[in-house]
Amino acid sequence: MHAYTNHGPRAANAQQTPQTQPIPGSNQVLNNAGGYSWTVDDTTRLHRFLILGSSGGTFYVGEHELTKQNLDVVYRLIKADQGKAVVNAILEISRDGRAASNDPALFALARCIAPDVPLGVRQRAFEILPQVARTGTHLLHFVHFARQFRGWGRAYRRAVAAWFNDRKEQSLAYQRLKYQSRDGCSQRDLLRLAHPKAETATYNTIYHWVTKGWESVGDEPHPDEALQIIWAYERAKRATDEKEVARLISTYRLPREAVPTQWLHSIAVWEALLEEMPMEAMLRNLATMTREGVITPFGKATRSIYARLHDKEAIRKARLHPIKILAALKTYESGKSVRGSAIWTPVQEIVDALNDAFYLSFGAIPPNDKRLLIAIDVSGSMSYGRIGSIPNLPVHEAAAAMAMVSARNSYTEMPNGLHVPTHHIVGVDTRLYALSISPEKRLDDVARILGQFRGGGTDLALPMLYALKEKLVVDAFIMYSDSETWAGRPHLAQALAMYRAAMNPQARLINVQMTATSVTNNDPNDPLALEVVGFDTATPQIITSFAAGEF
Ligand code: CA
Repeated sequence: MHAYTNHGPRAANAQQTPQTQPIPGSNQVLNNAGGYSWTVDDTTRLHRFLILGSSGGTFYVGEHELTKQNLDVVYRLIKADQGKAVVNAILEISRDGRAASNDPALFALARCIAPDVPLGVRQRAFEILPQVARTGTHLLHFVHFARQFRGWGRAYRRAVAAWFNDRKEQSLAYQRLKYQSRDGCSQRDLLRLAHPKAETATYNTIYHWVTKGWESVGDEPHPDEALQIIWAYERAKRATDEKEVARLISTYRLPREAVPTQWLHSIAVWEALLEEMPMEAMLRNLATMTREGVITPFGKATRSIYARLHDKEAIRKARLHPIKILAALKTYESGKSVRGSAIWTPVQEIVDALNDAFYLSFGAIPPNDKRLLIAIDVSGSMSYGRIGSIPNLPVHEAAAAMAMVSARNSYTEMPNGLHVPTHHIVGVDTRLYALSISPEKRLDDVARILGQFRGGGTDLALPMLYALKEKLVVDAFIMYSDSETWAGRPHLAQALAMYRAAMNPQARLINVQMTATSVTNNDPNDPLALEVVGFDTATPQIITSFAAGEF
């Protein structure tokens, strides 16, 4: 990688405050890295938390402290009479699958049922519980989180009972098979605690099976259709050949979790499972299916997985988050598990399909012919953090992948139909780097190139100073960063002012924030600066329209 020389020209009359001091007259505060930045409002922080979470903490702030800070944000908003807005934000972000993990939403929702929260807000939180806790695992996580905020009570019991009773009978049986227990709490425990009143004989039988099991399992499927999956599960436990197991899976749609482990070396069993396998489970099992010989070059399973990973509608419906796809791509392509205990030979069609699925998961983004200078913070702090507790994905690698989404959609079309790119991508720590990445590269290669950056301080003013020095006409600067800048002079906002004065007074700045902290380098009084949250599936669309001057 080639580094540009440090520090651009200095305009004689522009303010040049070192980043270790506040800009005079501003309300900047000390950031975690020892520089001065602005703080964002609580609503922005809530969005950052819901989308990015606090798991793993940041380079500067531990997970526990970051979680506490974000809980304080939720509480301040509730106290400021914003409780319903908090609950609605939780609902929207969770329901639309905008976050890599649903846990921050469940955690914030659990905070909203604490006794110190106004009754109306608590009621609304209980009301939306089934829409945020959509699976058995979600519900168990919610209950686990809620433990630290309150005990069981009538309203809480009723909400959990309603969660069970509102499921369709088939779905309830399926959930029970798929999600056994999490966080030391099982659905059986929950059923005992909430004791929902069974409204039909079918419910009654399911509850009875969950809490006590069935006395006997006959040769004929259960006459009640909703109970046949449970019958099939019990039969699969007794099955003696793979054909019978595969047939039970195909006919009664048994999930992988309901299949006894000794059958998970059978190709026929995996092929049967694949027919109805949810997208996320499919991603999780790619390596296993390759190891077991289910996924092979030219294979039937390979073709069907390739097709599903190109099915826009299916990706959307499964709320398959781009970060999960990227993590799967990186692991699968590497041919070894994160802990290194398992190895496989990656099948190229699957690698390519994951690459395409990443872009599809953001939805359709209109093209944009604005000139974008895309800067990725590659300083040490960015190689430290992890998003959505995904172990193999440092923040700057994921940020680069996200930058590809904007880059891919920024081009101008020549009369002959040729697309000429209108973006320029650089890396920044205390120097500026030309990065040999582009949207034409595969994402795992992009991640590999970014993976070389591990250290270095942070001076986020450099991209503006560089554009000024090289006289680049830029419509919008896009920064992917944790906003913890401290090492340079002047401040980013001052460098931007210098750039605007010399080159383009309308130059816009978009800060794509990668950690759930309170800081930003965007001057809150700058109408041409926008604050967005990284890894929000909605962010690329927002960037495109802001860069195009639509708002
Ligand atoms: Ca840094």
